[in-house]
Amino acid sequence: MLVIHHPDQARHDVESVFRTGKFIPHFDRAERYRVFLEAVTGQGHQVVQAPAGGLEAITAVHDPAYVDFLKGVHARWMRRPEFGPIAVPSVHPTHRMHRRPTDLVGELGWYSNSTTCPITADTWTSVLASAQVAIHGAERLAAADAPVYAMCRPPGHHAYPDLMSGGCYLNNTAIAAQLLSRRFGRIGILDIDVHHGNGTQAIFWDRADVLTCSIHVDPNDGAPLYAGHADEVGGDAARGCNDNQPLPRGTGDGPWLAALDGALARIRRFAPGAIVIALGFDAAEHDPVATFRITEAGFAAAAARIAALGCPTLLVQEGGYLSPSLGRYLRSFLGGMSRPRPGC
Ligand SMILES: [Zn+2]
Repeated sequence: MLVIHHPDQARHDVESVFRTGKFIPHFDRAERYRVFLEAVTGQGHQVVQAPAGGLEAITAVHDPAYVDFLKGVHARWMRRPEFGPIAVPSVHPTHRMHRRPTDLVGELGWYSNSTTCPITADTWTSVLASAQVAIHGAERLAAADAPVYAMCRPPGHHAYPDLMSGGCYLNNTAIAAQLLSRRFGRIGILDIDVHHGNGTQAIFWDRADVLTCSIHVDPNDGAPLYAGHADEVGGDAARGCNDNQPLPRGTGDGPWLAALDGALARIRRFAPGAIVIALGFDAAEHDPVATFRITEAGFAAAAARIAALGCPTLLVQEGGYLSPSLGRYLRSFLGGMSRPRPGC
């Protein structure tokens, strides 16, 4: 399999974030990049560094003003001597406030919804590299005769057109899907990260040519809290093109694979030209997020079912956090992709 990565993805590395009334270890550490790279290097894949690229594919799904802000916010932050070294929002507009501010602190709160997206001097470099990995993966899929794995980090599926959220700054899955839609026409997105792909849902909400499916923990019982319910089915122009399957905490392989089969049946009926898998391993039994109980065998079985669609497939890495099992989850999934089960 072709694997795309970029070393700049490891530059953004924040130790802790403020949540639940205290500082806790940040879940998305740069070490993830090294774990993923080591896992694929030992599995005989063709590993390629993404080339530098422009912003056109990024601004095709993101507000250019938001992208500009993201690029320059840390330099602006550092010009304020009274501020600390990491840009973190402390105030946000609510559903009662709708005026876009010009003040830096106000703007940061405008473009983010929590403390989960800290910004350092290296954040833009890393999120741009992660997006370029997805872009190059999409470009290479056109000529590939096998799935392509875009080893993205930081993740992206919680990012909206003009909002960073849940550790995500640029929506790599959506950027890739938009690019693929030009080449392949209708696109199916299947998000198996344990958290709802709320940013991806928002980006394609009114698109009848993109089917977005997400299998995740019930938003009444986990992040992203404000989206991911089963009755969110798409905008007026695209009703039925968004499919959410919220599942309870503690879900194991059996019900998870049954939900996956349901999503794959919908994708098959939609008849896309290509599919994008938002690939999260935080549904795993040993993931520190500790929400679902998916095993290595479960990930391998999911991959085999996805491969059995026989559709050009781009894998975009989303969540999945540091545990001794993380590399094995990736290896199990990629191994499963190369062994499709006939009749799935
Ligand atoms: Zn997640």
